[in-house]
Amino acid sequence: MEIRRAKQVLKQYFGYEDFREGQSKLVEAVLKGRDVLGIMPTGAGKSICFQVPALMAEGITLVISPLISLMKDQVSALNQAGVHAAYLNSSLTQGQYVKALKFAKEGRYKIIYVAPERLATEGFLDFARNSGIRISFIAVDEAHCVSQWGQDFRPGYLKIAEFIRKLPHRPVVSAYTATATEEVRGDIIELLKLRDPFVTVTGFDRNNLYFAVKKPVDKYKDLVTYLRDKEKELSGCSGIIYCLTRKSVEDICYQLRLDGFSVTRYHAGLTDEERRKNQDDFIYDRYQIMVATNAFGMGIDKSDVRFVIHYNMPKNMESYYQEAGRAGRDGAPAECILYYEPSDVRMNQMFIGNNENNEMLDETAKALITQRDHWRLSQMTFYCFTSECLRQYILRYFGEEASGYCGNCFNCLTQFEQIDISKEVTAIIRCVRENWTAYGISTIIDILRGAKNQRILSKNLDQNSQYGTLSTQSVTRLRQIIQEMLYQGYLELSGEKYPVIRLAEGAKKLADSETAPMILKLPKEQEKRESAGSIKKGKRRRAGAASALREQDLELFEELRAVRKEIAAQEKVPPYIIFSDKTLVLMCLVRPKNAADMLKISGVGEYKVQKYAEKFLTAILRQ
Ligand code: ADP
Ligand code: ZN
Repeated sequence: MEIRRAKQVLKQYFGYEDFREGQSKLVEAVLKGRDVLGIMPTGAGKSICFQVPALMAEGITLVISPLISLMKDQVSALNQAGVHAAYLNSSLTQGQYVKALKFAKEGRYKIIYVAPERLATEGFLDFARNSGIRISFIAVDEAHCVSQWGQDFRPGYLKIAEFIRKLPHRPVVSAYTATATEEVRGDIIELLKLRDPFVTVTGFDRNNLYFAVKKPVDKYKDLVTYLRDKEKELSGCSGIIYCLTRKSVEDICYQLRLDGFSVTRYHAGLTDEERRKNQDDFIYDRYQIMVATNAFGMGIDKSDVRFVIHYNMPKNMESYYQEAGRAGRDGAPAECILYYEPSDVRMNQMFIGNNENNEMLDETAKALITQRDHWRLSQMTFYCFTSECLRQYILRYFGEEASGYCGNCFNCLTQFEQIDISKEVTAIIRCVRENWTAYGISTIIDILRGAKNQRILSKNLDQNSQYGTLSTQSVTRLRQIIQEMLYQGYLELSGEKYPVIRLAEGAKKLADSETAPMILKLPKEQEKRESAGSIKKGKRRRAGAASALREQDLELFEELRAVRKEIAAQEKVPPYIIFSDKTLVLMCLVRPKNAADMLKISGVGEYKVQKYAEKFLTAILRQ
């Protein structure tokens, strides 16, 4: 019954026909008065889970959120949907804050976003306890910030439970995060003092995202070709390019600008003001491409990002999937491309152990975290080498079953050839076994290829029986083989300062004279030449939201985007907050004739119909 009403609310305010998988279960539990913990990947639709119940409750809902930009974005989106919402954080002046609090006391807002640090302040506590306004629900967004195991620990989150305890009525508490690990999950339940929470992990699959890993000889050149292709397909579409360091952000941004692209940049080394400006330029479609470190993105809800490129491999799958997941939140097709280079692995290894929040942890915990980080990095590296379906690899990492074929990743759309690498594998095992000390990957490769450098000669490694036995193999190929052996449990990486290779169980079992049978799957030569990642003609799909459109619809799509941009400028909100790309595509396909038709389109709620339908209808009818 309640859920039926929830669906009406979903349609009325947000214009969506139905809840997604997981959303309805969470909404239902909250409405029944049960605490919940929702673990959902980026873009799965967490906010709906607390916004819909908020609109149905008698009292108000507090949303605790770590980031100013996130609050601002969600509050604009709510206001655009006709919901009274506000935020209370340090971006307000004292005067604005007092006024917002006064309005809150008068019951003008249904939903209030608040930074965790505010909860303990006197003014806010007074409002929460004594204003007579009932707080029905508390939603804790990015709940993993409460855990020191996570990467975004925020001490303010530890104060939430105490705040809740001080309220005259305990509200229903719901927590949401995209981080799925056991430790973090446990911390959230314990530290937020959730009561017998309903916990659900919703599908991590984002089927509109295309995944590819590329290892081109010239990375920058490949990037430029990709971006030019994108420009031809869809002028004006947005994308993010992630780099590992500030310096590479600077370099790539500068270079792309020289090459004529519309780019801006974001990293922790810029002033607050410049960061804010560059972020807005991207969100408001004044610049199309954002080159950034991982400092960019948390709390950015821009739903029409059509590609996310990782110019460097990130440190683990959690970061990768979160960052890549910023593509295609509107559900329309989008691409996630990862460039792999061996130096990225080394760079990430250097970062491990430099954890800034470490002062709160003891030595044992630190050692555990370092060990875990190395393991995570190895799983990230395997992603770059697997020939399985990439989506399956990702989902399995996050603990979900998946079929071996998704049809929407590079590996699924590529023919692989099978290469017998038994000879090489055997040589590598013998080479490692013979050495007295353990060496890193590059040294092992040098031995096998018969290198005559100082490192090899000074340690007499040219005496190894395998010295030079694989001299015809390229470094890249040998790296691929070693990665495959790591993956299949023949080798393992360990080491304090820098990682060294040792034999793992699979290889220890083998007798000296035995060969280890192994097959390596690589993209067929012809595909490799086409630069890994771009799919053969014919199979190539348009990545843009507009991929479903015929030529004649494309023109209308561009026109509707122009209408949207104009309205967005008047309303001072980012264009995607007016309507998503996906909603515009549906308008092109359905071609609504009047407001009633318009309401049937996903993403069009009642309030927006009243406000904007006319302008869009005029454009549609003119065609
Ligand atoms: P998250 O916070 O989980 O990363 P968001 O709450 O930003 O994700 O939602 C991602 C996108 O999905 C938004 O554009 C949102 O409007 C859309 N969305 C959420 N729920 C639904 C639904 N039930 N049907 C269609 N679109 C939805
Ligand atoms: Zn696949």
